[in-house]
Amino acid sequence: MNAPFDTVIHGGTIVTAAESFRGDIALKDGRIAAIAESIAGGERRIDAGGRLVMPGGIEAHCHIAQESSSGVMSADDYYTGSVSAAFGGNSCFVPFAAQHRGQSIADVLATYDGRAAPNSVLDYSYHLIVSDPTPTVLHEELPRAFARGITSFKVFMTYDLMNVGDAGLLDILTVAKAHGALTMVHAENNDMVKWMNRRLADAGLTAPKYHAVSRPELAEEEAIHRAVSLAKLVDAPLFVVHVSTRGGAAIVARERDAGTRLFAETCPQYLAFTRADLDRPGMEGAKYICSPPLRDGETQAALWGHVARGTFDSVSSDHAPYRFDAGGKFLNGADAPYPKIANGMPGIAARLPYLFSEGVVAGRIDLQQFAALSAGNAARIFGLSSKGSLMPGHDADIAIWDPEERRVVTLEDQHDAMDYTPFDGMTLTGWPVTVLSRGAVVVHEGRLEAARGQGRFVARQPSGTGRMRGHRAPEFEALRAEGHEIAP
Ligand SMILES: [Zn+2]
Repeated sequence: MNAPFDTVIHGGTIVTAAESFRGDIALKDGRIAAIAESIAGGERRIDAGGRLVMPGGIEAHCHIAQESSSGVMSADDYYTGSVSAAFGGNSCFVPFAAQHRGQSIADVLATYDGRAAPNSVLDYSYHLIVSDPTPTVLHEELPRAFARGITSFKVFMTYDLMNVGDAGLLDILTVAKAHGALTMVHAENNDMVKWMNRRLADAGLTAPKYHAVSRPELAEEEAIHRAVSLAKLVDAPLFVVHVSTRGGAAIVARERDAGTRLFAETCPQYLAFTRADLDRPGMEGAKYICSPPLRDGETQAALWGHVARGTFDSVSSDHAPYRFDAGGKFLNGADAPYPKIANGMPGIAARLPYLFSEGVVAGRIDLQQFAALSAGNAARIFGLSSKGSLMPGHDADIAIWDPEERRVVTLEDQHDAMDYTPFDGMTLTGWPVTVLSRGAVVVHEGRLEAARGQGRFVARQPSGTGRMRGHRAPEFEALRAEGHEIAP
């Protein structure tokens, strides 16, 4: 085969959702043009001998250039965030565009367009965070966002300034369903957490380690059960983000077995760390404050079991970069009580090397599962129809991995704007070497080749919910039999 290809990646082992095989991949105009045993030519030839040629990662849960509800700006902007993601084996990412109360969705999207377009080195889209579901937002603004290809809406069941309440969640689920959009949910019982915070404060227990105590496993389990019940009532698909508990994962597994249109993810931090990390000397524990919080060793083992069994569609970073200084974690003082320390951990570059090393190399998952958990499932579920798998006609979003390279994680290797990485010092086997986004080499052999702003906004398709049959609430069925439809 010989044609005027832009790039040919040759001699590697190609990993698809179904199989792995030796072959070459030819790229033309940003797309995969051909896959064959041997392809000659190519303006640029990349030797992938001894390496794995995989779908470029899709990071579907990260906070980039986003203000928290308490006004702390994340350390990474769309340049450092996308560069860090690329060094971590990602070709595309989908950060959040967050509506704060009183803001119009049009303003939110204009703000994030201004932050992303001039800066991102990777293709990107946004999940829209909805905190103020007014009738205008529900019936005019969300449909307009959907029409421009933003096909997932995230809501919070916790945090006073974000929590939309059960009725708000039902409204958003119904609007999302009507348009083919997917509702994502942060599930923790807000009152349970607030009650724990008050009791702990009264007892003077405010060191970082009490953060984990303040957000009990039951708060997540109860909220996941409630969110799933709300979604089932109106037969809307639901995606539960960052599942951190055994009980929560068990609910997800049971509901999926029953055909509920339910998706879920967990994150490396819940697999790699425990609440003991919050009890490090001095204020070091603040580095490990995230919500939901870190749990224990038994939880880690159970969550790995669910990763292997397919309970989770993806393993996402939940990269929420707040520096270990007065502009980040300690905006409210160097010895602030845990509720006033910024919530979140960085990990956009570490996500896939961690998942590869502890998942594939450790024998917990195979390469096909890795391809699905890192890219394929996110592409399908979030409507990135031209990404997430290596097929002719698809975008040339490709990550070439050296499965044998063994290296210690350092802050420098993260290429983000952070001053720490929780993965510091961890030895991992298997690292991305070359990353392409729509055919352009972004990272090659440890060097950045991309230009600021070369990434493009990707208008997404409706969510692909596959063959899951959903749930028909008998009450709605009875209404339909009478000819009434109150929740289309
Ligand atoms: Zn998050």
